[in-house]
Amino acid sequence: MPFFIEVVLPLSLPKPFTYAVNEAEYAFLQTGMRVAVPFGRNKIYTGLVLTKHQTPPQLYEAKDIHQILDDFPLVTQTQLDHWQWIASYYMCSLGEVYKSAMPGAFLLESETLITSRPDFNAENEQLSDDEYLVYEALQTQSALKVQEVVSILNKKTILPVINRLIAKNAISLQEEINEKYKPKTIRYIRLQGEFLKQEQLSELMEVLSRAQKQRDAVMQFFQLQASVKKPITAKILTEAGVTAAVIKALVDKNIFEEYYLEEDRIQFDNATNTGFGLSPKQQQAFNEIKTSFEQKDVTLLHGITSSGKTEIYIKLIEEFIATGRQVLYLLPEIALTTQLVVRLTAYFGNQVAVFHSKYSNNERVETWQQVLAGSEKAKVVIGARSALFLPFEDLGLIVIDEEHEQTFKQVDPAPRYHARDAAIVLANLHKAKVLLGSATPGIETYYNATHGKYGYVTLRERFGNVTPPEIILIDIKDKYKRKRMTGHFSDEMIDAITETLYNGKQVILFQNRRGFSPWVECMTCGHVPQCPQCDVSLTYYKYKNALRCHYCGYNIANPTNCHKCHSTDLNTKGFGTEQIEMELKSLFPNKNSWRMDQDTTRGKHGYEKIIDSFKNKEIDILVGTQMLAKGLHFDNVGMVGILNADNMLFQPDFRAFERAYQMMVQVAGRAGRKGDRGKVFIQTYNPLHNVIQQVTTNDYEGMYKEQLYERHNFKYPPFYRLIRITLKHRDYEKLKDSALWLYNVLSQNLGIPVLGPEEPGINRIRNEYIRTIMVKIPSAGNSLGATKKAIEKILGSFEAVPQYRPVRVTINADPY
Ligand code: ADP
Ligand code: ZN
Ligand code: ZN
Repeated sequence: MPFFIEVVLPLSLPKPFTYAVNEAEYAFLQTGMRVAVPFGRNKIYTGLVLTKHQTPPQLYEAKDIHQILDDFPLVTQTQLDHWQWIASYYMCSLGEVYKSAMPGAFLLESETLITSRPDFNAENEQLSDDEYLVYEALQTQSALKVQEVVSILNKKTILPVINRLIAKNAISLQEEINEKYKPKTIRYIRLQGEFLKQEQLSELMEVLSRAQKQRDAVMQFFQLQASVKKPITAKILTEAGVTAAVIKALVDKNIFEEYYLEEDRIQFDNATNTGFGLSPKQQQAFNEIKTSFEQKDVTLLHGITSSGKTEIYIKLIEEFIATGRQVLYLLPEIALTTQLVVRLTAYFGNQVAVFHSKYSNNERVETWQQVLAGSEKAKVVIGARSALFLPFEDLGLIVIDEEHEQTFKQVDPAPRYHARDAAIVLANLHKAKVLLGSATPGIETYYNATHGKYGYVTLRERFGNVTPPEIILIDIKDKYKRKRMTGHFSDEMIDAITETLYNGKQVILFQNRRGFSPWVECMTCGHVPQCPQCDVSLTYYKYKNALRCHYCGYNIANPTNCHKCHSTDLNTKGFGTEQIEMELKSLFPNKNSWRMDQDTTRGKHGYEKIIDSFKNKEIDILVGTQMLAKGLHFDNVGMVGILNADNMLFQPDFRAFERAYQMMVQVAGRAGRKGDRGKVFIQTYNPLHNVIQQVTTNDYEGMYKEQLYERHNFKYPPFYRLIRITLKHRDYEKLKDSALWLYNVLSQNLGIPVLGPEEPGINRIRNEYIRTIMVKIPSAGNSLGATKKAIEKILGSFEAVPQYRPVRVTINADPY
């Protein structure tokens, strides 16, 4: 009797593959265990067991597996159900979901490159013979393919050896080399163990009787310990008046001990519950959420910026983990985790785990295993969207903070899922509750919350009853006419900045474009330098004196003559953050201006560094792109300035007005979070524009009603579900033909609106031409699943046409 297993491979394959196993393996294997299997020509992949059976495959002869990699399932049935849903809803293969869900270290394959770690010392670690052979080979070769390890060890079962070397930190995988996330470390001081007991204290005082300052320092330490109830940082100790020299002396005497902890992995002895109470308004919202959860699985908390939503989440999380269930807290942006982790760890102690793609493989593997085991160390998991894929045992609650953020949607590669929507499905599988939080909910979310699908709770008051910021519009058309502009700053904006800085407050300025100028123009012939590979103009960077493509990274030195007519009369047009920063340096030469955008945060921890310096008030004026709008908390921001509201409004996208509203309200929310009322200055050519007026009066409902009306008229969500099909090819004509063919077949067969094939605003990237087709499926009725199946079938026949096969097709369900 033969034995078989169905295995999903981390590849874009339409179906799982069948492999042969022996009887013992058959008895041992369970759904969710990994197996190393051969696939294609001489390749090894890490596959996942889906099912077992005894029916040989019809079309091919099943190969044997190489080996079993797990002693127990690493992936749960609930996860597999969830992945299946993602694959079918977002129209991709299960293998693609599997690949993106698992930490890389779980998915070793023959092409994976391994390298040695320079900080590893073989003398301190026990290596087995096999491990040593690999280690030795890496001393002479900079990298090895997993496949090459097979020949070094002269056997097929090598993945366990590699896994052990990873666990011993002796090697790392290629993908980690580029940028390994290293959270900031903090220096802590504690007493050496023997002095911890009370009776030792007098002895210690005795020892220090002739060192008054050191005695005081120890007393100070005890006092701080009693009042702070947290590990004592060196910083707190020095702030309390103990000098660095005294600390050092005590360390040298082995009385104090220094130790370092990463900021977001701080270990607390036990939850040092920094108790706080909810304000009456917060308490009311909290009660309403709980009542709502009796009826509804999903509830929206619509609370204005700085209303204290986080505190409500914390109290709610506390109740859920008290019942023994797990909690997932999703954030739109990795960079926000540090702030939150500090806040949650102070409250929940060691029960908080962090999971995101910038953590090393080791850390991700560790968290995965803790979550799978239902460990106390991972009762609350904080993460960006990929945390959704962890092997939760018993999830009770998912909190999705800033649910309107478009970063919850994965753009590339597949699965192109929306973490909010996928989280709601996951919660459903666990019978868990979902709390969505935002000051500016997405239109679809608000629609669901006001049409009975989700519960709805509002919080309309800032914590501490701080008044929401005052919003002042500046008409720059008028300012230009009356010559009241210096560069891109109106006199009013300059005065406001001057006054804010004078009062010791900080300033945030928002400009939604990076670089110095989005394009350069020849004043003689009108030529604008374009990227040779993409259909976009090159952005001018003054500091580097270069032109750069934001789509493919192509860059050249800034030309002195026009490439077309050789004229030297070149002019820069439009403005970005770099230009604003330069103008600030001349307007406020004695102040520290800084810029936060993709260009300055690219390096290691660039983002955290800037945020830390701003928090520490080393920066007076921070200029940035939409990165500034993402739920950051600063206490000392007196004003926010938006330099040009118009370029957010006029984007060719049905969500442009919704986004512009969200962006402006969120950036405005950074002003005046503690104490005084903040001010927000918005420069615009269109002060009477509806969206600008809605921002000024904080009229979310007004914005929503108007947008909903438009969405209804033009067949957009929530009334229609969109599926965008993108076709790419280097050959313009071939692409045009194929797109037309696909469009014709779709529109003839589906019987619903199909739009296109359209040349998008940017119709060529990296030398590939682009065409898009949009399918609109009515939300009313139940045709969604059937329509997706029909589209997949049509795409199947499209790929069967030989001349269309090289055209790359991607599908995006619910594009953002
Ligand atoms: P939101 O996320 O709604 O914008 P936050 O949760 O960040 O607002 O709260 C804004 C500020 O108010 C934070 O500095 C927070 O620490 C403080 N705060 C909110 N609620 C409380 C509370 N109940 N007790 C003490 N401080 C609070
Ligand atoms: Zn020219
Ligand atoms: Zn380019």
